[in-house]
Amino acid sequence: MRIGVLAVQGAFAEHSAKLRGLGAETFEIRQKNDIMESFDGLILPGGESTAMRKLLKELDLYAPLKDMILNGMPVFGTCAGMILLASNIAGGEAPCFGTLDITVKRNAYGRQLGSFRCIEKFAGKDIEMPFIRAPYAERTGDDVIVLSEHENRIVAVRQANQLAAAFHPELTEDATVYRYFFEMIQNHS
Ligand code: GLN
Repeated sequence: MRIGVLAVQGAFAEHSAKLRGLGAETFEIRQKNDIMESFDGLILPGGESTAMRKLLKELDLYAPLKDMILNGMPVFGTCAGMILLASNIAGGEAPCFGTLDITVKRNAYGRQLGSFRCIEKFAGKDIEMPFIRAPYAERTGDDVIVLSEHENRIVAVRQANQLAAAFHPELTEDATVYRYFFEMIQNHS
């Protein structure tokens, strides 16, 4: 299993390390040439979605990656990555890929609760969830499955080949969310 990690900005190194620890082959996507060889899954990491969006366009990665997602490439977006996938951003900001039918609210927990950890269920299993100036989904489309909630707010979802989490599973020891993503990849290929 070969997984590309978008590495233009943000917390990509932590994802790569975690994926390798779980036995996946990874490579970093920094420029268009990097996505010429075939791969099985794509990670959009946390970071700053505004900066990532700008770099995706400048590096000519935006259109090919969007095509891949629309064509069924399994993709997992965490935090800023969830924002990149969302079809709507509360407040009227234009979407980036816009492939995942949710409305996200950015920096949704206010200043004081900007960063925190909690234990919540992901697909029915308790896991640790670190949040860092995270979004949540305030609307989900009919085809979207809710996988996690925290205080009645939706923080992990799946729609077909797209998985998104508002928290950072790469910053914990737990592998539940990655295993879920690996299963999506296996069922796709
Ligand atoms: N606040 C960031 C944004 O809006 C996301 C934070 C993160 O990825 N940890 O893009």
